[in-house]
Amino acid sequence: FDEREGTIWFDGAMVPWRDAKIHVLSHGLHYGSSVFEGERAYGGVIFKSLAHAERLRRSAELLDFAVPYSAAEIVAAKEAVLKVSGLQDAYLRPVAWRGSEMMGVSAQGNTIHLAIAAWEWPSYFDAATKMKGIRLDIADYRRPDPRTAPCASKAAGLYMICTISKHRAENKGYADALMLDFEDNVAECTGANVFFIRDGAIHTPTADRFLNGITRQTVMDLARRRGIAVTERRIRPEEMADFSECFITGSAAEVTPVAEIGPYRFVPGAITQTLMDDYLAEVQPQARAA
Ligand code: PMP
Repeated sequence: FDEREGTIWFDGAMVPWRDAKIHVLSHGLHYGSSVFEGERAYGGVIFKSLAHAERLRRSAELLDFAVPYSAAEIVAAKEAVLKVSGLQDAYLRPVAWRGSEMMGVSAQGNTIHLAIAAWEWPSYFDAATKMKGIRLDIADYRRPDPRTAPCASKAAGLYMICTISKHRAENKGYADALMLDFEDNVAECTGANVFFIRDGAIHTPTADRFLNGITRQTVMDLARRRGIAVTERRIRPEEMADFSECFITGSAAEVTPVAEIGPYRFVPGAITQTLMDDYLAEVQPQARAA
């Protein structure tokens, strides 16, 4: 992925893709002092760019460092890198980390770096294939207790258990894994939030112990605009037997229907379809200009 044409915004400069390198003694690599974003541009406009920039800054604050650019500067940098990419529909990846001046747990004086890349990341499937729903395993690892980790931060370190869980699921033929929380309630997937439907109403786990996704908030808003009730609450895994539909949400995943989670089965239906369509309409630049 590093050997390709392109340009990456790196500490305020436009750098050729293959030259955007860091030192092996970077604190972010050794101690996980790194935070990132994942977001999409549609028709040349980045969806909720300011919200993602603000979350990046907040993620860093939760790790006790400050991104040395304002949210407005981050938004402008993302637009600049999208422009040089020449892409209309793209995935953007801002990442901020502690640099390499000091090597030890403490790194109070290390320079904070910021890089932003943009590349093509098409939606996983076409709409018809998508409606068949993906299959999820149930992960062994739990999302950590908020007293154990800064779980509202989109921190690289919190993805260690996500990558392990996703690999285990993929090796068993699943698309992804559902993770439970530290009290064994349903939490989220390795890179997306989860929703369930029963009797025309939506139920989703309360996001006080995992990332409250920007897509999650958008979809809850879209559902309420349709008059669909949305309840945020603790959901026990056994309850999954009583839900008829299930879908996951994320900037990369958008709204993706789920057919299977461990022993539980769902049939993607009308509400999932409606929210999939509403989300794709909402992210279009003209929908936002209106
Ligand atoms: N949870 C996790 C662990 C994620 O990585 C993501 C993707 N950023 C989400 C939820 C969904 O967040 P968003 O909708 O803001 O992309």
